[in-house]
Amino acid sequence: KDFRNNVKPNWCPGCGDFSVQAAIQRASANVGLIPEELAVISGIGCSGRISGYINSYGFHSIHGRALPLAQGVKMANRELTVIASGGDGDGFAIGLGHTIHAIRRNIDITYIVMDNQIYGLTKGQTSPRSAAGFKTKSTPQGSIEPSLAPMEMALTAGGTFVAQSFSTDLKELTALIEAGLKHKGFSLINVFSPCVTYNKVNTYDWFKENLTKLSDIEGYDPHNREQAMSTLMQHDGLVTGLIYQNTEQPSYQELVTGYKKEALSKQDLGMDQEDFDRLVKEFM
Ligand code: SF4
Repeated sequence: KDFRNNVKPNWCPGCGDFSVQAAIQRASANVGLIPEELAVISGIGCSGRISGYINSYGFHSIHGRALPLAQGVKMANRELTVIASGGDGDGFAIGLGHTIHAIRRNIDITYIVMDNQIYGLTKGQTSPRSAAGFKTKSTPQGSIEPSLAPMEMALTAGGTFVAQSFSTDLKELTALIEAGLKHKGFSLINVFSPCVTYNKVNTYDWFKENLTKLSDIEGYDPHNREQAMSTLMQHDGLVTGLIYQNTEQPSYQELVTGYKKEALSKQDLGMDQEDFDRLVKEFM
């Protein structure tokens, strides 16, 4: 079935987020999902609108809270495939605590970050991904803070699927999302998704000049964590491809004692309809 709907995105022409939307739609179809089996949970920011642009279940949540929502959805209904998505401000600033704990928890969802190194929705302020010296209206002298390194952070936090891509490389991005959806555990995919309106430094051309594909590095092994970390540090994080995957570690779902296979919504609550109605009334 088609994951496209008839809602026209109101992103600026040329925004990198269009490719991420297309890649999610293609990857979901390629792994054999139907819209009723997918939930896309997003945060706040330009990228947060994505949940409304995909034909699936969706929830446009609050700033930095896509991951708590997404984890709740997955725990309540393990039959759903769950994608969380948002921007670098959403996931690496206000939502960073949730990001780190979802990574180490290894809960079976896919988190796609549209990383444009700026706050676009609020018209261009530095984000945790902006480089030191980055000038915006809020930092006219240049930012004095260094940029956060999300891939190194994910490896340190125990990430079992850590990947990065560039929004012009639809083929690689789609393949990585497919692999993330199939991964049994938490998959983090950071996508360089240029903001053409407010970020005049990290442009499409800038990324083309500065990114290195891991597939071009001879002998790169995405199952070697030490090599993943040293390669990231050597390239200042500017690599694309599958950085690291650990298929040995069980997911959170596999470890929770008494976790039932069927969705919470389908389980017997251990009460009859009369008791249930009485309970509902208490909350009304
Ligand atoms: Fe995309 Fe930037 Fe426009 Fe937002 S402001 S829609 S991030 S180009």
